[in-house]
Order: sequence, then C-alpha cells, then structure tokens
Amino acid sequence: MSIKSTMMDYPLTLSTLVERLKTYYPRVEVVSRLPDKTLHRTHYLDIHKRTKRLASALTKRGVKKGEGVATLMWNHYGHLEAYLGVPIMGGVLHTVNLRLSPKDIAYIINHAGDKVLIIDDILLPLYEQFKDDVALDEVIVVPLTGEKVNSEYTDYEDYLKLGDDDFSYPIIDENDAAGMCYTSGTTGRPKGVVYSHRSTVLHAMAEAMVDTLGVSQSDVVTPVVPMFHANAWGLSYTSVLVGAKQALPGPHLDAESLMDLYQSEQVTLSAGVPTIWMAIKTAREAEPNRWKTAPNMRMVVGGAAVPESLFRAFDKFDMTIIQAWGMTETGPLATVGIVKESLSDLDEDAKYACRIKQGLTLPFIDIRIVDEEGVELPWDGKTSGNAELKGPWVTAAYHKNEGAEDSFSEDGWLKTGDVCQIDQEGYVKLTDRTKDLVKSGGEWISSVDLENAIMGHPDVLEAAVIAVAHPKWDERPLAVVVVKEDKQITTDDIRQFLDGKFTKMWLPDAVEVIAEIPKTSTGKFMKMALREQYKNWVWE
Ligand code: AMP
Repeated sequence: MSIKSTMMDYPLTLSTLVERLKTYYPRVEVVSRLPDKTLHRTHYLDIHKRTKRLASALTKRGVKKGEGVATLMWNHYGHLEAYLGVPIMGGVLHTVNLRLSPKDIAYIINHAGDKVLIIDDILLPLYEQFKDDVALDEVIVVPLTGEKVNSEYTDYEDYLKLGDDDFSYPIIDENDAAGMCYTSGTTGRPKGVVYSHRSTVLHAMAEAMVDTLGVSQSDVVTPVVPMFHANAWGLSYTSVLVGAKQALPGPHLDAESLMDLYQSEQVTLSAGVPTIWMAIKTAREAEPNRWKTAPNMRMVVGGAAVPESLFRAFDKFDMTIIQAWGMTETGPLATVGIVKESLSDLDEDAKYACRIKQGLTLPFIDIRIVDEEGVELPWDGKTSGNAELKGPWVTAAYHKNEGAEDSFSEDGWLKTGDVCQIDQEGYVKLTDRTKDLVKSGGEWISSVDLENAIMGHPDVLEAAVIAVAHPKWDERPLAVVVVKEDKQITTDDIRQFLDGKFTKMWLPDAVEVIAEIPKTSTGKFMKMALREQYKNWVWE
C-alpha cells in the first residue's frame, strides 16, 4: 500500500492575510500622500475593518463571485482596501492602468465585463472621456480631495457604511480568480492576465524570502510602481502578508515628493522603473545633504534594464538597488539580481557585472531559452535565446483565451518575448526583446499601432517605429518613414497628424526620413536592422 500524505488541504486565499492584519499587526501604519500633498495616516486595524465593510457592501450590492470590480486609482489606502476587499468577497480586482487612452480603458472594462468602478475623485475627468462607452452599474468615488462627491456617483465613504463589520468570508477555492491586469498586445488589443488567490499568496511568500526581496515586518515599503501596473509588483500583498508598514505616494511620483516621503517615513524598501531612479539620482546629486534616508535602504528596480551607473550612484547614497525582472504575466516577479554567497569573493567590478544581470529565478519559476524552432539552448552565458517560463504564478492563458497561439509553447511554457542568455551559475541576462513594443517610463507603447496610423498619412509610403534608448524614459519611439515621391515630412507634421489618436506620451519624439525600410525575404520590416542602425541615436 502506498503511503498517502496526511497534510491538510488548506486553501491559500487572501482572507488569511486580511485576518492576520487584525490579529498581529493592528497598530502598523499605512500612510498615503493625498493630492494636496498632506499625509493621510491610518493603521492595519482600520484597513482590516474597512476592507471587510467594502467586501460586505459589494456583496449586498449584488457583485457576484467571479465578477470584475474595476479600479482607477493611484497608490493609497483606498486602493489597498480594494486590493483586499474585492477578492475576499469573491470578486476579481481589475486594476485599470490610468495611463492608457480612454478608448483602451473602455475596451478593457467592457472586455472584463466589469459592472462596478472604484475611482479617485481626481481621476473623474478621465472617466468622463469614456463613460459613454462603458455600461457600469455603479461608480464609487474615493473623496481624496475631501470635496463632496457629485450625487450622480456613490461616495466611497458612504458605500463603506452599507457594509457590516461582521462580514463572513464566503468559501473561496484557492484557484478562484482574485485579480486581473491587462497587458499590451504587440498587435491588436490589450490582453487580460487573471491571477488566482493561490498565485497571489505564493507570489507574496516568494517575494518575502530573505534571498529575494526579503520583505519583513520591520520594513517600511513604498511601491512607486503603480498599483495599476502588475499589482505594484506584488508589494501590497507581500507587505500585508508580513505586516510591513506601507508609505504610499498617491499621485506624487516626482523625485522631490518621493525623497520627502522616504525621509519622513524612513522608508526601507521602495520599487519602481529606472526612470524614477534617474530622477532621484539627479535630485540627490543636486542637493546631497537635503534628505536623510533610512540606513541601507533597498530599491527594487525593474521593468526595464538598469544601467550600471545607477547601481554605482545609489551605492554612494547608501541606497542599494536590487534588480528584478518579470512581467504582468508572471505575477510579476520572475528573477531577482542578488549576488550569491558563493560569488562573494568577486572583485567590485565583477560584482557590478553580476548585479546588472536580471538575476536568478525565484524558487518554483522554471526558465529555459529556446531558438526559433523551440529547441532548448545551453546555459553557457554566451548563447542567446527566447526566454520561456513556467511556475505557479505564471499565467497559463489570457482572459477568454486570446493570443494563445503566439504566447505559449506547445508544451505549455509562457513565451516571454524577451531574449536572454543564462550562465552556468544560473544568472539570466536580457539581451534583446522580440515583442514589437516600446517601453517608455515603465509603460508600453505599441509600435505597430503607431506605424499603422502613420501610414495613414497621405504623404507617407511606409513607416516603422522602433524603440531607441533614452536617458530619462529608458526608451522612446523613433519613427522611420519613407515618403511618397516629391513629398517632404517633418516630425511636427507626423505628431500633429497623430495628435488626438493616441495619448501624448505615445507620439514619436522624432521622425527620420529614409529612402527604404530594410525588409526580410518575406517582405516584413527588419526591425532588428533598424534598431542596430539607430542604436547610437542622440535625442535632442
Ligand atoms: P510588464 O508586463 O509591463 O511588467 O513588462 C514586462 C517586460 O518588461 C518584460 O517582458 C521585459 O521586456 C521588461 N522588463 C521587465 N523587467 C526588466 C528588467 N529588469 N530588465 C530589462 N527589461 C525588463
């Protein structure tokens, strides 16, 4: 007779995290910066109470298990309450990226089938731009400015009063949906990634491990990465799991506001894209004695490659950068760039060379690199291949099964669209990207959508948009165009032509007119050749 496990089948659901807040961390603070820059202070006992009231109110108002509740919010206490309150009542927290165009926002709200939207009062002007294109039952407004909420909407504070303190948790399977995020498709529309309770809990536990981000109850955590982008890299849930204080920046993401927050709250762990840290570096260098941050503050930097100069500069400020790589589809954390103990005798330059790699995969994240035919390539630190991932917080599909043919291998690995090398120590190093997108300040721009629009210009014959490195935004779009005979075109012409069709940050910063766009044997634009040609491009 085979021996069977005698362990309990205990579900990994978010209600356990919520209850721990009350039991173990009631007095731990959650600080949020409001639109007027003042600090709102509360603590986990109150967050616990309000979270349960929100869950209860949503239930009473008819939100059913598996239904999406959209949020359009900055990082603050209200968003944290939605992060917890929606999934514990069985709803699916759909964090909407407020930097998308109103057209795309309406598309994804409709695609997810959301019936309720929770929105910051300061974002109502954005809602006004797409409200006629969505069919929401209720719009709940968080009064961050303290101003009275217009009566056509529901005031969030009134909504919480509808809820009961003794909300009892419904039975939720750990594989039930807890949250969803849309990610840019290379072509066509954004695609939805749906996280489960189990994937969210496991991701939080993995992120808390000492050899990953080591988030602990003694940390003060500031996710600068928005709660609407890949779940603020999971840091909200991880902070709740371990009972870490959170200092949330609200809409104020400029260097000065962040440094003020780091100082006033003595933040020990923050996270964001390189653009944020470039700005902080400039501010610190300009006024070296202005701020006093917590000793050996850690900053998780990811979303784009982190230049070595940034590591070196922050080491001088006693702020340690930890690089992380991942994507919306992977929870998002897949690797963390720590230097293994067995490599601790490397000299200083070699250590930097190690830290600028994307790092080691987290436990339970499997990685392989493959060639175009899907044949696995060696981990020799020299061979580049397409990175594919598997793991308990890696998506196995997109919402409504869209995009499956391009995104998953036949044997079920996620194709990341990133090209990397892996060395014998297991360090992953990104060398290129196959996905045809531009990542600017942490947000995606679809080059294909821009090309199609530019080719609609009457004087343009062909257009290719490529990502070119930019000192502030990591990458910006450069449009390379071929004009019709006897025609001329300038950057301003193209920008004016695109104005109104895309959000401002999507518009190409420069337009280069060339005689012919290099093409493959099948007539496709050879973007790699163009990227190579313009790799030393200097932005004016
Ligand atoms: P997102 O889904 O918006 O979080 O974007 C994920 C993508 O960002 C990845 O597939 C990479 O192309 C890029 N990315 C994330 N982290 C890094 C990193 N540390 N270095 C380079 N690129 C990164």
